[in-house]
Amino acid sequence: MRAKIPESSIQANCLIAGEWVKGNKGETKVPSPYTGNAIGSFTEPDSSQIEQALLAANSAQKDWAKVPIKERSKILHDFRAILLRDLDEISHLKASESGKTFEEGKAGLMKGIEVLEYALSLQNLDLNGKLEVSRGVTCEYRRDPVGVVLNITPFNFPAMVPLWTIPIALALGNAYVWKPSDKTPLTSFRIAKALQEAGLPKGLMTVLPGGADTVNALIDHPIIKAIGFVGSTKVARMIYERGTRLGKRVLALGGAKNHVILLPDANPDLAGTGISDSFTGCAGQRCMAASVLLAVGNVDAHIEKIKARASSLKLGEDLGAIISPGQVEFLRGAIERAEHDGAKVLLDGRNATPAAELSGGNWIGPTILDQVKPGSEAHTVEWFGPVLSIIRCKDLSEALRIQATSPYGNACSVFTSNGALADRVVREAQAGMIGVNVGVPVPREPFSFGGINASKFGHGDITGVHSLDFWSDVKKITTKWEKQADSNWMS
Ligand code: NAD
Repeated sequence: MRAKIPESSIQANCLIAGEWVKGNKGETKVPSPYTGNAIGSFTEPDSSQIEQALLAANSAQKDWAKVPIKERSKILHDFRAILLRDLDEISHLKASESGKTFEEGKAGLMKGIEVLEYALSLQNLDLNGKLEVSRGVTCEYRRDPVGVVLNITPFNFPAMVPLWTIPIALALGNAYVWKPSDKTPLTSFRIAKALQEAGLPKGLMTVLPGGADTVNALIDHPIIKAIGFVGSTKVARMIYERGTRLGKRVLALGGAKNHVILLPDANPDLAGTGISDSFTGCAGQRCMAASVLLAVGNVDAHIEKIKARASSLKLGEDLGAIISPGQVEFLRGAIERAEHDGAKVLLDGRNATPAAELSGGNWIGPTILDQVKPGSEAHTVEWFGPVLSIIRCKDLSEALRIQATSPYGNACSVFTSNGALADRVVREAQAGMIGVNVGVPVPREPFSFGGINASKFGHGDITGVHSLDFWSDVKKITTKWEKQADSNWMS
């Protein structure tokens, strides 16, 4: 279903010290990819506003650190109720500014709420072990907040990606500074409002929309102690290098070019739906999209099913829009270059058109390229559109060899009915998230999310149990109250 475009313009300002204020660095319009028309605008803070925001965040965090996790969780619980109450409205808004269909907008928000539920479960876990390690001596862990943490988020999941980190970082006692994408800042305004309504004390959520200057000023500021980033590999690497040079912890998730291995014994219905939905979902603008199909042996009947399903999608109803006119031009050029490189166009989305009232938007239909050469642009470059590149392989070994040449490492899936072959892919594929007969292998909570290689800079994952050490410091406390008569080297 298409997104309901907001009727009146939305102004996304800066949230500084609990108040919404206009950024002093001017206003930028936010167009909807559906129509090309502006649906709102954002204002960017200047350096004095950034300073004011971080001082307020720092002071609020000192008090928040003293609040027990069960009390912090009460606010997050109310936040969850508000997100569920306003689920449809927020889903339409995020779909309107990012180009997703309504269902995709809603699914992303639900996934974000699942992370929030994981964060709520932390209050009931014993995260701090304690043991008598020697007579009269105990060792224990204590998990302290890091302080004020910065998160920089991409356009393609305006609610889900921020919700990967907001609830966990806040539950663990940090203050959160959010630099949303300059292409989709309107959802950040709506989510931060929901946190305010839930009663989050002033200063614990700061929203500062903007571009590279704002990001750099925030990273360099001594109040910022940890930096989470999700976006393209180019920017992820820059952020990682800039932050770690200053001795800060950084977890920067980058781009991807995910491979799906299709074996002749695969269930045709599972493969047809799973692979088609993976490369067309969110119009291919997601880091978990399967954009390279490694077709092993004769799988032509399966490819026909993938093509049939992809061709049935209606633009604007089942397939969302592309983020910008420039990106549509880029995709058209990329398909043309692939043809020059020898690829055969099995399905051509270049001339697909939406309903007349959406003609001002940014559209391209599902496209399938066959006989793509390993190592060519269509194989290696993240295009971020609804395009599937098929590489023909003689056997699974060749498919795995080609997969391993990818610089990225977010996801790899296999479609097969053979458990032993699936297990081989699980063991040998060079990716952080593996799917067996699943086209988009996003781990559900409590399992954590994160790739390897050029899809992630830093250690740990961004959600789940493997994120906890990023959003907190673990203190080790050794305690003795009395001198023991039979003392040993420890006591
Ligand atoms: P992007 O890298 O252009 O932007 C991401 C964020 O960085 C935005 O907030 C943007 O304003 C900011 N930014 C852009 N250029 C900057 C610069 N020079 N200096 C400092 N900050 C800068 O990414 P995008 O186009 O918004 O999102 C799409 C990309 O994100 C794709 O590559 C996709 O694969 C990736 N992504 C990855 C994951 C993951 O989990 N690995 C999830 C979602 C998206």
